[in-house]
Amino acid sequence: MKIALTVGHSLLKNGNYTSADGKKYGGCNEYKWCKAFSKQVASAIRKNGHTVKRIVCPEKKFTSSIQEKAYKLNIINSGNYDLVIELHLNAASPSAKGTEVLYKSSAGKKYAEKVQKQLASVFTDRGIKLRDDLYMLNGTKPPAILIETFFCTNKGEYKKAKGIIKRRELAKLIAKGIPYK
Ligand SMILES: [Zn+2]
Repeated sequence: MKIALTVGHSLLKNGNYTSADGKKYGGCNEYKWCKAFSKQVASAIRKNGHTVKRIVCPEKKFTSSIQEKAYKLNIINSGNYDLVIELHLNAASPSAKGTEVLYKSSAGKKYAEKVQKQLASVFTDRGIKLRDDLYMLNGTKPPAILIETFFCTNKGEYKKAKGIIKRRELAKLIAKGIPYK
């Protein structure tokens, strides 16, 4: 398959991140963690024989998060992709925890189920969620899934995901959920 792997959010011109930041709870910045993670996810999925295009918004160019949408959808919808995967982290109170994969289409649901099952071996299983209010799920031609790997506001979960070795392990799990063909 030809897969578009996108990183949620961006770093704006004024230096602000459009993502959540769990650092004050001992967690991490969502965008920064996902951007690093996307490299391991791309490499793990490529090992399964897929073609992967990693999409990260240009940094310090946009003035608002609205510009992320046009930038990404333009690349995705002109690229003949078979699947879109967007990486995010959840954020809430410091006690909130778990992993969830969001989908809209029935094709997306199949991948969401497989990826969810894998990530639930490390994080609390919050289940897959049908969402029809997210542009990455309803604005793309190919089916899309949005992975909320863990809560960036949860110190314990961040511990399980901190560092390249752990990111590599988590990336392998996602790749297992995206079987070849
Ligand atoms: Zn996010």
